[in-house]
Order: sequence, then structure tokens, then C-alpha cells
Amino acid sequence: MLRNMFKKTYTKIDTKFRPQTKAGEEPAIPQGMWRKCNKCGQPIYVEDVMNNYYVCPKCDGYFRVHAYRRIEMLVDEGTFEEWNKEMNFSNPLDFPGYEKKVMAAREKSHLNEAIVTGKGKIEGNPAVIGVCDARFIMSSMGHVVGEKITEAVERATREKLPVILFACSGGARMQEGIVSLMQMAKTSAALKRHHEAGQLFISVLTDPTTGGVTASFAMLGDIILAEPHALIGFAGPRVIEQTIGQKLPEGFQRAEFLLEHGFVDKIVERRDQKRVIGQILYMHRSHKMNVERKMPEDFAEALKARREGLGTAEAMPSGEVRETRTMEEAAGADMSENGAAAEAGGTETSGEAPVPQGTAEKTAWDTVLLSRKADRPVATDYIEAIFDEFIEFHGDRYFKDDGAIVGGIAMFHGMPVTVIGQQKGKNTKDNIKRNFGMPSPDGYRKALRLMKQAETFGRPVICFVDTPGAFCGLEAEERGQGEAIARNLFEMSDLSVPVLSVVIGEGGSGGALAMAVADEVWMLENAIYSILSPEGFASILYKDSKKAPEAAKVMKVTAGDLKKLGLIERIVPEEEPACTDNLYRLTEYMDNAMAEFFETYLAMTKEELAEHRYERFRRM
Ligand SMILES: [Zn+2]
Repeated sequence: MLRNMFKKTYTKIDTKFRPQTKAGEEPAIPQGMWRKCNKCGQPIYVEDVMNNYYVCPKCDGYFRVHAYRRIEMLVDEGTFEEWNKEMNFSNPLDFPGYEKKVMAAREKSHLNEAIVTGKGKIEGNPAVIGVCDARFIMSSMGHVVGEKITEAVERATREKLPVILFACSGGARMQEGIVSLMQMAKTSAALKRHHEAGQLFISVLTDPTTGGVTASFAMLGDIILAEPHALIGFAGPRVIEQTIGQKLPEGFQRAEFLLEHGFVDKIVERRDQKRVIGQILYMHRSHKMNVERKMPEDFAEALKARREGLGTAEAMPSGEVRETRTMEEAAGADMSENGAAAEAGGTETSGEAPVPQGTAEKTAWDTVLLSRKADRPVATDYIEAIFDEFIEFHGDRYFKDDGAIVGGIAMFHGMPVTVIGQQKGKNTKDNIKRNFGMPSPDGYRKALRLMKQAETFGRPVICFVDTPGAFCGLEAEERGQGEAIARNLFEMSDLSVPVLSVVIGEGGSGGALAMAVADEVWMLENAIYSILSPEGFASILYKDSKKAPEAAKVMKVTAGDLKKLGLIERIVPEEEPACTDNLYRLTEYMDNAMAEFFETYLAMTKEELAEHRYERFRRM
């Protein structure tokens, strides 16, 4: 029924856009079936547009969508129950002509006001839904819009349901003056209660989301999604241009700009919205871990032998040294391959379980070089191999999305988790995007935001640590690198969900620790964790960075050393130095170990977890 209604209104409006014909000439195509794309100017067939989620099939331009049409695209058929369909007109300032304007908008849009709210299911997941409709006085927020949102959110809090709001607005409803302004506070306050009740709010920003709506409910999502190219901003571009007297750059205030600046988690194409939102909703429902122990016996045996022999005899294949060095290393260090070369003649490991031999002992420096090897798997490799359905979320909500940190939600044997990794690149281009795995303050703030989000929804957190160190640079200091790291140590110390950190490569100093205040810290056998790079250490204490191999030894940077010192709980054995080919062996081990970890720590109360973490560091 909805569909028919919409076909009707849509085509009615469309007749305005029929292809132009010269005067007196009969149009060759039936009226109402075609319209001209207001983005690319090409004639497009209405049916094609409707079947393409109201996206131009010629230029991929996004048309604005009527509220009911959007609900129809999003909500499972027959599940939508509308709330507050009729609400009385309100004219708090007795503004002349306002009633007439609202009545005209009602007539034109067949809507009572600029938002439709209600309850429905998305891919089987129940949610409260609100959708703004731009046809109604540019979907500006007056008393009725504010009231409908607030009532919907309050009811969602009572019924323990998530809320999804599709924002689209010119801002406040000017005709309602200060009362309109108060709707910003009213809706935000209702969302705060919903949040405190541990419920999820997904905000979806569509074109345009501006003014008071941007400065209230639209920006308060636990997860903020946006449609491609949507205009999103507090002040409209024309106002800004007039104020500053200059033209704004291309792409300014578009969804992609907001993503880059850390305010949007993810841009989702309209065709994918139902699936993505459905998946996010599903991942925010409570699911228990369901693990089948799947480690093959021979592998378990091999690991046992391995663990017993750890740190005594390792074959050390020579390898290409990671090209990507830290600035520190580039400045001071001679990354000669001496260490690796010395051991190049060592025993070749085959697929068999390694046998301790007591010869060809791997030095600390060998481990340092291995931890930096260019072909070592990076955080996303582990995330993809260990978890399912990873959805990446972007941004710190303050300034930027830092490519050196990736994070989001994923499933571990059916249980939702938050995963965050320090991310190195795999080639030069990728490394520039990832800043060679050196996070900026924005990266640490993104990580913390995702951890706090995990805490809200009771998800365990798994961090993958792999950084030469926090980024050393002007902008990093300007935005408070020290503060960002300190804040993470502070907040992570009593996070009320289990936290596991795994050092997969380099664990460089405070930049690594900012993601390793965990209940347990594990290290891969060939990972390192240190106060400073051995090169830096050598140049400070020995006034000679070439003495890095010596420094590596005294610094106690290897997994074996740290385990002996009681600073880490587990060493993930590397039968051979980690690379893409043997990744599955490592992740199989980690999968089992993680299941064990979760079984242990999920059984603890929030207080016990915080206490355990406190004591873990207190004794150091
Ligand atoms: Zn087009």
C-alpha cells in the first residue's frame, strides 16, 4: 500500500521534469515516466530511478527521498508501526502566516509534519525509526518535530530499543523562534537518557543536514552514518561564503569531508543501508560466544613442544629488513642486516614441529629486525583472519580520521567485540596513508572513542599493537600527543569490559602502551616491546646508534624477556617468522587462546575486571 501511495506522489511531482520539447512538438515519451536528472541533466526513466534507490542511474547522484519511501526501503515489509501520526499544530510565537504555511506543506506532502516516527524491524532486528522529509518546510525542526523525536526516543528507552534517525534539515524552524531552539536541547536530553540506559543510537546524515539539527541529535549517534556526498554542516555554505568573503573549496562540508575530519563513522550507499544497519543492529543485540575447539591435534602438540623450547633455539631465516623506518631510525640508525646475516646460515625450519637444538640462538637484535620485517602481517590481516563481519568505524569526533589506527566492531564466534589495531602499510602508498603505523593524537582519540563505545554496549576489546612509536611532529604536539596517550592510560585502566592487547610487531614506547593497558598483554614470539627503539636507546646511552644490537640485548625487548619479567601473560609462538603464508597457523592459535581469555574474563564482574587491571599494573 505504501508503495502505491509513493508511486503516485512521486510521479505526480515528476511530471514537472518531463524532457523538454520545442513548442508545439509532441513529446515522444509519455509524460510522467521520464524526468530530467537535476544533477547531470540527462533524461532518466522514473521506474529505473525507483528501482535504483532513488539514485540517478546515469550519474549516481542522490535524489532526496520521501519519508515513507525511505521507510519502505529500510524496514521489513509489514513491520512498520507509525507513532504520533497526527500531532496538533503549534504556533508558539503566533507568527503571522505560519499556520497557512504549515497547512500548505501538509497538503503538498500528505504529511502531518516534517518527520515520521515509529517502530519496525530491519532485517529482523526491532528498532525505533525516525525519518525527516525535506518536502515539509525543508524539514526544519519546530516543536512538533522535536516532540515526535523526543517521544520516540523516550519510548525506545522504556522498551529497550535502539533508535535510528535519518536526519535531513535546513535547521531550526524560524517561525517558532526560541521554542524551536529549545528542541535541540530537548531531543539531546532524551538521547542522553537513552544512551545512559545502554541503548544504541544510529544517526544517518542525508542531504542536507544543517543548522540546529547538526548541532543536536544528528551528531549524537553512537554510530554516525552518512549518504555519499550529502551536505552536512552547522552554518550553510552560502552563509560562510558571505561571512568570510571567499569561495569555499570543492567538497567542503560534504559527507566525505566529514569522514576525513573524524565526524562520520562510515559512508554507506543507499543500496547497502538496510543490510549495513541491519548488521549493526544485530551486532548490538546480546550474543554469547559459541566456540568449537578446532585446533588440530598435531598443531597443538607442535605448539606445546614449541612453548617448552621457546627462547632456546630458533632458526632465523635472513630476511629483507622492513623498508619503513621511523624518523628516529632514519635519522640515527644504520639498519645494516648484520644481525640477520649472522644467522642466515641457521637451520631452515620446515612445517614440522621445531626441535630445540641449543645452537644458532636468536639474538634480541634478530628479533628486532624480524618485528619490523616488511612482509609481517599487519593489524587488518589478523582482524580479517580471526573475526567475522568486521565493520570499520572512522574518526575521533574532534578533528580527523587517523589512518594509523583502524577499529570497529566484529564477531568472535558469534559474540560481538570491538577490535582496534595500529596499522602499518604494506607498500609505500599504503604506508603514507597509514603514516607508517605511527598514530597521531586523533588516532588515540579514535581508539578511546571505540573503547568507550564498547563499554557502553558491554563488548570486550581486542587491541593489536604494532607501532614504531607515536607520531613525532608539529601537528601531533599541537593537538596534544601527550594528552591523548595519557587519556588512554587513564580511561583504559578501569574500562568495565575485558581488554586484551596483542603486540604483533613493534611495541614502540608510550605509543604502544596507549593501547596496551589491558587485562592481559600477549606478544608474538618475534614482536618487541620497549621504552624506545634500540637505535634511540643506543644513541642516548652509548652515544652511538650503531650499538643498537647491544642495546636491544640489555633493554629486554623480546617476548621471552618480557614474559620472564612478568610484564606479559602469553607468547604467541611463531613456528616460522610470521608472514602471510603462515598467518593461519598464528590466528588458529590466537583464536583458541582468545576463547580461553574471554571465558575467564567475561565471568568477572565490572569491579573485578577493573581491580584486576589495576593490580596488574600496580605490582609492576
Ligand atoms: Zn544524473
